[in-house]
Amino acid sequence: MINFKYAIPEIELFAYTPNIDRVCAAAARSTQKKISSAEIYDKDDSNKVDRTLEYTIKMGHHSITEHGTLTFSIKDVSRSMTHQFVRHRIASYSQQSQRYVKYDEPEFLLPQSIENNPEAKRIYDKFMKEVANTYNELINLVKTEDARYVLPNATATTITATFNPRSLLNFFRLRADKKHAQSEICSCAYSMWAEAALVAPKIMSPKLFQEANLGTKNGEYYIDELIEIIDKSRKKFENAKIGEIVEIDLSALEDKDDIIRVKARVRKLF
Ligand SMILES: Cc1cc2nc3c(=O)[nH]c(=O)nc-3n(C[C@H](O)[C@H](O)[C@H](O)COP(=O)(O)OP(=O)(O)OC[C@H]3O[C@@H](n4cnc5c(N)ncnc54)[C@H](O)[C@@H]3O)c2cc1C
Repeated sequence: MINFKYAIPEIELFAYTPNIDRVCAAAARSTQKKISSAEIYDKDDSNKVDRTLEYTIKMGHHSITEHGTLTFSIKDVSRSMTHQFVRHRIASYSQQSQRYVKYDEPEFLLPQSIENNPEAKRIYDKFMKEVANTYNELINLVKTEDARYVLPNATATTITATFNPRSLLNFFRLRADKKHAQSEICSCAYSMWAEAALVAPKIMSPKLFQEANLGTKNGEYYIDELIEIIDKSRKKFENAKIGEIVEIDLSALEDKDDIIRVKARVRKLF
């Protein structure tokens, strides 16, 4: 008999281009100037940066938001979620290998609907216990890469994902749409959005997303809650020391039926 655990997703924005907003605004303005983007980057103040981005994004010239990267460390999400995640082709991924990593104490994701339904929870627990034991028996008999065939979609995994800002906004457009996206990926999308908004406040602004009509047709988004979360974290992030990890409080979203708990944090790099 071996134990298993239920995991809680943890997402950290741990690497990113400095001043993404300013880089993209300089790129946008350089298309209509004799001077270079580097010169514009040095010259423009933050009001000019914000106005440029607002105008350009609302105009639909989204390619100017392709400059820069954001890299997320994503831990303890389900394989079912990462299967959806990696469909976003304009991003780069590295995922934990079930061939090389042996799970001594397997971890699984527990969907909220199952957690809230005692009979469903009883059936789920029973199955996970059986899976954990079967996997444990098999890893003593065959290679890990073959024992993994019994692991379910719920198995916890880690993945590293690097997006450019435009592709990340497309990810939010599709996956933060609470009406259509599944709860786990939707919850992760809100965590990533709050994190990204601390390092690229204008491009990742939920208000600009709404005003520029970037959402899906008939999509529904927790824009007000997200703004509250970002506003609450901004001071903490601005006052953080270089190298400090800032935790983001997602509680404004946690009472929603379609949102699961996620631990969100951003590393202050500059
Ligand atoms: C609610 C929901 C349900 C879904 N259900 C299913 C499902 O049942 N089955 C299924 O297979 N998938 C499903 N998907 C996945 C979906 O079809 C997309 O594959 C996924 O959301 C990635 O979106 P994307 O192509 O816009 O992103 P990316 O791959 O990151 O692409 C970003 C953008 O780049 C452009 N682009 C990228 N590649 C190409 C290309 N080859 N040619 C032209 N333009 C390109 C497009 O404009 C695209 O929007 C679902 C997605 C959502 C949000």
